[in-house]
Amino acid sequence: MARSLKTEAIVLRSIRYGEADRVLHLYTPGHGRLAAIAKGVRRARSRFGARLEPFFHIRVILHQGRSDLHTVTSVDTVAVHASLRDHAATLDAAARACDAVGRLFETPDPHPEVFRLLANQLALLNRDAGNAHPATGLAFRLKLLLAAGIMPQLASCAGCGESAHLQGFSAAAGGVVCNSCEAAAFPLAQEAHTFLVGALGQPLAQAPAASELALAQAERAITETAEHHAHVRLRPLLSATRGHGALAKFAAGSA
Ligand SMILES: [Zn+2]
Repeated sequence: MARSLKTEAIVLRSIRYGEADRVLHLYTPGHGRLAAIAKGVRRARSRFGARLEPFFHIRVILHQGRSDLHTVTSVDTVAVHASLRDHAATLDAAARACDAVGRLFETPDPHPEVFRLLANQLALLNRDAGNAHPATGLAFRLKLLLAAGIMPQLASCAGCGESAHLQGFSAAAGGVVCNSCEAAAFPLAQEAHTFLVGALGQPLAQAPAASELALAQAERAITETAEHHAHVRLRPLLSATRGHGALAKFAAGSA
């Protein structure tokens, strides 16, 4: 039975298909991640124009046929985020944000908060290239873990409940651990712990500053949590920027 679905969406991926078509991965507020085909979109006179590029925030009407693959019948643009394409760092951060959402939320289950979070992250990257800093990217991922229901325990030891001497992080135990429970843990400095708590409690635009070591430990905590509890491998954030001296550049820019 054919049905029509009208929704906002963010284009996560756009894949060439056949002679003139594209298959899109869309993230929607009420229907999670959907796949849709845009027929004839690569023809010069396509009625969709250039409105179906990655990172675009659109309003779309989808025709739902017998398969899981929807067909795009109409598109309006809400935001194109053109400025984030001006810098390699913002383009890369946007791609990683969309990739993380696509991996952690790959079903049609509704997560409107994830849609708002992604729309917010893309708008921040579009507004200011400084938001491509890994601290913002890690804060974004931490909020995704919360939405996925796999937020690590940060307030007390995940092994015994002790609230002092929290010196390690163990994805298997489910969060920070004390010095008596740290068997399978890696060291988590106070600064990294403070970053995780602050990043979760603050709006995305106000992700706290932290040293590269603390951010690396925070990233390891987030990555191992996603692997252990969602079986999802997130693309590295820090190793991607470290080689280009991006952190040093950001540090100099904010001084
Ligand atoms: Zn303990």
